[in-house]
Amino acid sequence: MLIDVTINTPRGLYKQTKASIVNVVSPDGQRGILPNHMPIVVSLTVSKMTMEEEKREAYAISGGVLYFHNNQCMILTPAIENVNDIDLERAIKAKERAEQRLARGVNDENVDMARAQVALQRAINRINAKQQG
Ligand code: ATP
Repeated sequence: MLIDVTINTPRGLYKQTKASIVNVVSPDGQRGILPNHMPIVVSLTVSKMTMEEEKREAYAISGGVLYFHNNQCMILTPAIENVNDIDLERAIKAKERAEQRLARGVNDENVDMARAQVALQRAINRINAKQQG
């Protein structure tokens, strides 16, 4: 028994796959979703997500929501990358930019601190996911 997983982003369908377990992180902590899990809606944190597909695959996910019902798992997220597709240099540059904005924002009311903070989280998450695999 496998879970049918569909992942959508604002760019459209990211992936449709089958998995024997979907491991995600919500504000309540880690959750492993197995076939025949009860129906749920889970909000996702900016975190690493893994699935047992043909082999174990790891992703950096930039938040979103997961809906599971009847062995169908739907994930809607602003952005997701398989760790193999993460451009580490790009993430490091994004982290530096966000850190500079946050430092500048202490004295500059034009800086959107919340936006810079989540950009920093996304960048750190990508770096960690890439390094952990
Ligand atoms: P950047 O400033 O580098 O664009 P960002 O956090 O603003 O980073 P997002 O808006 O989250 O980027 O994502 C835009 C698109 O680029 C998404 O499709 C996302 O999957 C992809 N993406 C972002 N950063 C990386 C990265 N380091 N490696 C691979 N793809 C990335």
